[in-house]
Amino acid sequence: MMNCRQASILLSAQQDGPLTLSQRNRLRLHLFFCKNCRNFNRQLHFMREAARAPAHWE
Ligand SMILES: [Zn+2]
Repeated sequence: MMNCRQASILLSAQQDGPLTLSQRNRLRLHLFFCKNCRNFNRQLHFMREAARAPAHWE
């Protein structure tokens, strides 16, 4: 399984463009087990959504 460092790199890369299928699968597996990276992922989403449409983010 990938470590948190690798996962965070993929999570960031994902913001700029799609990952390969195997990257996505490995990332999803990591997120399933890793609460820290789920939180990190949420933060990335939050920042992106907030920048795009601040009024619509719940
Ligand atoms: Zn992790």
